[in-house]
Amino acid sequence: MIVDKLQAVRDRITTACVACGRDPAGVRLLAVSKTFGAEAVLAAVAGGQRAFGENYIQEGVDKILAVRAALESESDGLRPPGSRDASASEWHCIGPVQSNKTRLVAEHFDWVQSVDRLKIAQRLSEQRPSHLPPLQVCLQVNIDGGATKAGVAPQQAQALAVAVAGLPRLQLRGLMSIPEPAPDFVAACAVHQRARDLFDQINQAGVLPRPMDTLSMGMTADLEAAIHAGSTMVRVGTAIFGGR
Ligand SMILES: *Cc1c(COP(=O)(O)O)cnc(C)c1O
Repeated sequence: MIVDKLQAVRDRITTACVACGRDPAGVRLLAVSKTFGAEAVLAAVAGGQRAFGENYIQEGVDKILAVRAALESESDGLRPPGSRDASASEWHCIGPVQSNKTRLVAEHFDWVQSVDRLKIAQRLSEQRPSHLPPLQVCLQVNIDGGATKAGVAPQQAQALAVAVAGLPRLQLRGLMSIPEPAPDFVAACAVHQRARDLFDQINQAGVLPRPMDTLSMGMTADLEAAIHAGSTMVRVGTAIFGGR
């Protein structure tokens, strides 16, 4: 059952926080629902989950519309007609964003964590509808340096952060990383620590209008190591929804 698996992941997060002396309230859980349908998302919502991550933009948009419609009809009669409980679900784009998909992201998602180029950020800012709050943004950092991987190089991350923080319809929230699987806990901690150090370094440089508050790292296999290194948001798919 999705509700039980969600609870098991929350327990893992709590145990990991206790083990390194952190407050579990400082780690958010993003449920990665890619490839699973709206019913799976609604089951997780029923279990108290609010934030969902999607990799494929068109699939994500279809799901967002289906889930929001279902949640609105469910709560009909509890609220004044026409009002919308925007807080019922929150959607994060965590997959590659090509130029021809920026409008869909800007119009439907609440967050995008996979920004790695200024040109994409500029389009998202221009296309974010004025009736919506600013799009919440994390920069994807290629922390372990794979040449073919997405993500801004660590040495260029600060300059990109400054540029993105200056765009009017975006709010820069932090960094996101997807390192290669590590052989063991110590190795996983070491690679996540590099992202943590970069995050601290950019915040401490005093170049941003306000400090970043989100360090998005850790998945099903390595969330404990990521929390140990300071993750504030783990992105978990398999442990909640099952294998893909
Ligand atoms: C699929 C995915 C996840 C979730 O991975 P699991 O191993 O299933 O927990 C997290 N982040 C990103 C960017 C993903 O693409």
